[in-house]
Amino acid sequence: MSVRRLQQVIQSVPTSDGAGVKLRRSIGSQRGLYVDPFLMLDEFSTDNPDDYIAGFPAHPHRGFETVTYMLDGHLLHEDHLGNRGDLKSGGAQWMTAGRGIIHSEMPQQREGRMRGFQLWVNLPAAEKMKPAWYRDIEPREIPQVTLGDGGTAKIIAGTVNIAGEATDGVIIGRTTEPLYLDVELPNGAPFRHAIDAGHSAFIYLYEGVLQVGATEDARLLQTRCAGVLSSGDEIAVAAEGGAARFLLIAGKPIGEPVVQYGPFVMNTHDEIEQAVRDYQNGVLTA
Ligand code: FE
Repeated sequence: MSVRRLQQVIQSVPTSDGAGVKLRRSIGSQRGLYVDPFLMLDEFSTDNPDDYIAGFPAHPHRGFETVTYMLDGHLLHEDHLGNRGDLKSGGAQWMTAGRGIIHSEMPQQREGRMRGFQLWVNLPAAEKMKPAWYRDIEPREIPQVTLGDGGTAKIIAGTVNIAGEATDGVIIGRTTEPLYLDVELPNGAPFRHAIDAGHSAFIYLYEGVLQVGATEDARLLQTRCAGVLSSGDEIAVAAEGGAARFLLIAGKPIGEPVVQYGPFVMNTHDEIEQAVRDYQNGVLTA
């Protein structure tokens, strides 16, 4: 087994999106700063309603998937297909925009904490124009496993193997084979897990400090940074100086050109122009 090293650190930067929601963007914060097939990762974390109350009113997407995972708070998703999904603390939502979806994501609280993540997962050319798909994931549906040396992992997507026992997450069998784990480690606890050698992988650390890599060449990852991992077939991390909480995200690279214009992610400029025209003409989702 070869252990993946911490290859690149992407510090999250404050930004705003939707109708003025304050968030921190790491992957996707600059043009070209993506980890194929992952285009963007936003963290929102605030106790101040002014930071989230305006929400994300109706807006389109085409060509990729969005994964929203809530730690705290309550958002309501509504889309043009008539899906209504309450996203509550501990819940998630996997949405494949495909050829087009128009949706809103609005806070259902006027005070209190709003905390969670939105990840954008690209689709291969062959799937960019497929029909939209939506899956609401209740907190109780997300499998949680206890790790050998302490700590827990919630499995939103992919499969975890602990002591020879495999546990499937909610989302499996997609083309990009995503692994999406929410891991919590007590102080000093290590976590090792195999990751397909051909897959891209990164960690987003949202609490604590994490030692990443094999002991002899480990590097520290700081809070609110994305750590992109080198090639290898295993990850090894340990919580350093306190408990740590992080997302471990991996998937199969698509290896195609990425042309992004706001909420549309296609392979060519012509396809982007088509998406804009389709939206203007009211046929994005048709
Ligand atoms: Fe959206």
